[in-house]
This record gives sequence, C-alpha cells and structure tokens, in this order.
Amino acid sequence: MPEHTMSNDKKEYDVVIVGAGPAGLTAAIYTSRRAMKTLVISKDVGGQIALTDDVENYPGFNSIGGLELAQKFMEQANKTGAEMLFEEVCGINQDGKEFIVSTSSNRQIKTKTVILAFGLTPRNLDVPGEKELTGRGVTYCATCDGPLYKGKDVVVVGGGNSALDAAEYMSKIANQVYLLVRKDKFRGEQVLAQQVHDAKNVTVMFNTATTGILGKDRVEGLTYEIDGGKKGELKIQGIFIEIGHVATTKWLDNLGLELTERKEIKITEDCETNVPGIFAAGDITQITYKQAVISAGEGCKAALQAYRYLQGDKPLLPDWTPKK
Ligand code: NDP
Repeated sequence: MPEHTMSNDKKEYDVVIVGAGPAGLTAAIYTSRRAMKTLVISKDVGGQIALTDDVENYPGFNSIGGLELAQKFMEQANKTGAEMLFEEVCGINQDGKEFIVSTSSNRQIKTKTVILAFGLTPRNLDVPGEKELTGRGVTYCATCDGPLYKGKDVVVVGGGNSALDAAEYMSKIANQVYLLVRKDKFRGEQVLAQQVHDAKNVTVMFNTATTGILGKDRVEGLTYEIDGGKKGELKIQGIFIEIGHVATTKWLDNLGLELTERKEIKITEDCETNVPGIFAAGDITQITYKQAVISAGEGCKAALQAYRYLQGDKPLLPDWTPKK
C-alpha cells in the first residue's frame, strides 16, 4: 500500500491528477513540492510504461523494467506528500471556479484544479471473435500475459515498436511467433526490427490483415487475408494485439474541452486546456512524440502552470522540501 493514501472524502484538494503514468506522477512530485494539496487518482500505477518489459531510453537508466521505473516515480510522489487513490474517475463537473471529481466507488472529490494525464487506451482490431475471446487468448499486453503462453504458438498483430517489442519478447517464451503486419514494412525502429529478424522462431508476414479470431472457449486460431486476396488460417493459442492506442475522452464531453480530430486534448505550450483550472499532460494530449521522458516533462509543465494559476499574480514560492 502506498505511504500516503486518501483518508477523508470531505477534504478539498488544490489539485487532482487523473492518471499515474510518467506525466501524472511527475506532476504530483512538482505540485506536492510546491505544497499544493495533491491527490492522484488512477486505475493502476505507471500506465503504459508499467507494461513495458525493458525501458532503455529513459535517461539515467541504461535499462530498467517499466514497472520498476513506475514504482520509483510513485515512491518519489509519495515521499513529497502526494496522496493516491486507486479507482477509476467516472466524471468531472465544474462547480463555480472549482471541480467535483467522481469516482467508480461514488466518491465526490472537490478540487481547485485538475491535471488530466490518463494516457491512451489500446486500439481494438474490430474483427469477429475479438470481443468474445478477450482475456481467453486475446490480449493487449505481451509483458503482462506473455508468460501464460510458454511453449505455445502465438500471433502478434502490428508493425510499430509495441508489436516488435512484443514479438521479440514472445520469441523467448513461445514455441512459434507469427508477426502479422498489414503493410509491406514496419513502422517501428530498425534496431527492434533487427532483433525480431534475429529471433529464430519469429515468422514475419507482411501485407497480411487479420480477418477473424477463431475458438469456442479459448483462442484456437486466426484467419487472415494477404494483399491480392489469398486467404489463410493459423492454428494458435494466443493473439497479442499491439496496434497502437486511441484517446478515450468522450466521458469529458460535459466540460467543453477542445479536442483534436483524434480526440486528444488540445493544450497550450504550458499544458493549459481551454477550460481555466484544467490542465493536461502526456499521451492524452496532442503532443507528437508519445514517449515516457516527454510525458514526464509535460507533467512537470502542467504542475507548474497549475501552481501559477492558483497563485494568480502573487510571486511564486520556491520549491518546498520535506523535513528529514
Ligand atoms: P504505432 O502507432 O507506432 O503503430 C501501430 C501499428 O499498428 C502500425 O504498424 C499500424 O499499421 C498497425 N495497425 C494499426 N491498426 C491496425 C489494424 N487495424 N490492423 C493491423 N495493424 C494495425 O503504435 P505502437 O503501440 O507500436 O507505438 C506507440 C508509441 O509508443 C510509438 O511512439 C512508439 O515508438 C512507442 N513505443 C516505444 C517503444 C520502445 O521505444 N521500445 C516500445 C513500445 C512503444 P500501419 O503502419 O499500417 O498504420
């Protein structure tokens, strides 16, 4: 259990941060160091980074497990005094200049500002069988579920870094991995593509679209179609769908937030949304590069801007440091 957990629903917060990935937890470190009463609400710790097996591009660490990195962020946020609540946020309503945040267990939490940092949601393939067999052989996270497929034959769908990462990871666990890429090339990095190429038990199938997932109680196979119309079937026990993410922001419609065409939250350079008092950071915003280190930086900006918003024209206080 985290060091600081929420103790009293009646409390009013200076800031509620939605999401505990690199953006949300960095924001929490900065807001609590500015002595802002901070509550982080999230379904889990770390968001996408926690699902990454090995992070090799976060400065300061040559290589670190994603979950371990996320836990380090959380320890630091806890140490500076941020409170944590592990629930789903269901709605946010404006109450004069303030906000009421509602959670899945019917808590109503009052706050002066909000930082939205809840990241993206895995994209569905939208093929027959996917919904029915999700959790029964269909998965969206190789790092979480990979070990369940030891010695089995599996498919990874996608051509970006996530799919390449998943295929390489699964090559060490599964008997045979098929990587189904809908185009004739990868979108991911060369270094990851080379690792997949070097793995003996990965078969890459380019120009191949997944058309259906087969199985009664569990996944038993997959149907595909190659450009030009040739159809085929693979006998497999698991399918890892790694085809990117979508922004799930519909639940915020009542706030009148400006969104991009892709439904990401539009922010200024300083992470302000068009609604005064609401800030956003990380992958859920329109930033081009969805990377952990960038999200952390954006979280910092959102926190400092929320602090500035609360301070008005008064001079900014220096960072607050916890007493030893
Ligand atoms: P991307 O958006 O980069 O790639 C999505 C892939 O899925 C593309 O190849 C796309 O094909 C394919 N795709 C999309 N829809 C379908 C569909 N319906 N059927 C079949 N294929 C489909 O997403 P990722 O999750 O791979 O990466 C997201 C971000 O996270 C990137 O910025 C990435 O660099 C980063 N990341 C970095 C890692 C690392 O550095 N080790 C690890 C994992 C992620 P098409 O190309 O045809 O559009």
